[in-house]
Amino acid sequence: MAIERTFVAVKPDGVRRGLIGDIIKRFEQRGLKIVGFKMIWADEKFATEHYFEHKDKPFFGNLKEYLKSGPIVAAVVEGADAIDVVRKIVGPTSGDVAPPGTIRGDFGHMGIKHADGKGRIYFNLVHASDKKETAEREIKLWFKPEELHSYKRVDEEEVM
Ligand code: UDP
Ligand code: MG
Repeated sequence: MAIERTFVAVKPDGVRRGLIGDIIKRFEQRGLKIVGFKMIWADEKFATEHYFEHKDKPFFGNLKEYLKSGPIVAAVVEGADAIDVVRKIVGPTSGDVAPPGTIRGDFGHMGIKHADGKGRIYFNLVHASDKKETAEREIKLWFKPEELHSYKRVDEEEVM
């Protein structure tokens, strides 16, 4: 078990739908600690760097337009094995298979295939780093060291 930090973003559709609180609450209620938090409107350079791993995918252009379509809420979340735990809370990428109880399974239902068939941009509310190297890279991209904070939650002895 390791105390890890991971990067989470409420994507522009989550912000536009007024779900910032509902989404961030999912992490806080599990005992994970928010150690960085801000609203940013990503530009082309940021979007390209953030989704660098997808640069050769056919959906890359649409994905960048999606990320740039409004402000996002960026957060760094800390806790025991936080990278995997946060991915479980977020749920699978495609909303049609995301189980109820996950963020993507509770606030959406449309799948990637359906969106592709309609020629729509695929919205799924939230981003979370998928592994250690990605988390380190994404935290460094979105946050300056002085924007991250170490503090104790009052329930830390019980839940961490
Ligand atoms: N995405 C898409 N079409 C696809 C696959 C992914 O539009 O066929 C979008 C979707 O918004 C997803 C993001 O690209 O969240 C990044 O894809 P990834 O496979 O990294 O999924 P995630 O890590 O977000 O679950
Ligand atoms: Mg990913």
